[in-house]
Amino acid sequence: MGWTDERVELLKKLWQEGLSASQIAKQLGGVTRNAVIGKVHRLGLSGRATPSKPARTVFKAPRPARTVSAPSAPRRLIEPSSMIAQPTPVRYVDEAPGTATVLTLGAHMCKWPIGDPSLDSFTFCGRRSDDGPYCDEHASVAYQPVQSKKKSSAAELARSLRRYL
Ligand SMILES: [Zn+2]
Repeated sequence: MGWTDERVELLKKLWQEGLSASQIAKQLGGVTRNAVIGKVHRLGLSGRATPSKPARTVFKAPRPARTVSAPSAPRRLIEPSSMIAQPTPVRYVDEAPGTATVLTLGAHMCKWPIGDPSLDSFTFCGRRSDDGPYCDEHASVAYQPVQSKKKSSAAELARSLRRYL
């Protein structure tokens, strides 16, 4: 089947609309995909902007970053206060009950926990503490682990340095 003016016009139209050569061949009927491609070249139509390419990049661009839901965030609000969450000192067992409770503990009172935090008898030391969260006695106990930590990290540093000496 030859290329009549009518069929050429239809070919041009379909090509501009972005149909593929095989789609156009089907629409025209009686021609092969290769015949369409050959005609397109002869007509100088091959330089059309293929609409499929920009469409693909548009598809890629809006790919949303996966939103990570944080279900644990609201939970934090109902966690016990940081005062109670403080590490329980090892020496509390043999101590007399303190003078302060969660409700009466003030800014300059020793926040050393005494007793089992889950019991009603749980108290805080409550003695005067001017510089820091604890009274002098409890401060000396509280900061002991920190000092031994420093010692061990110093020992670790020395050990790691030995490897390079
Ligand atoms: Zn105290």
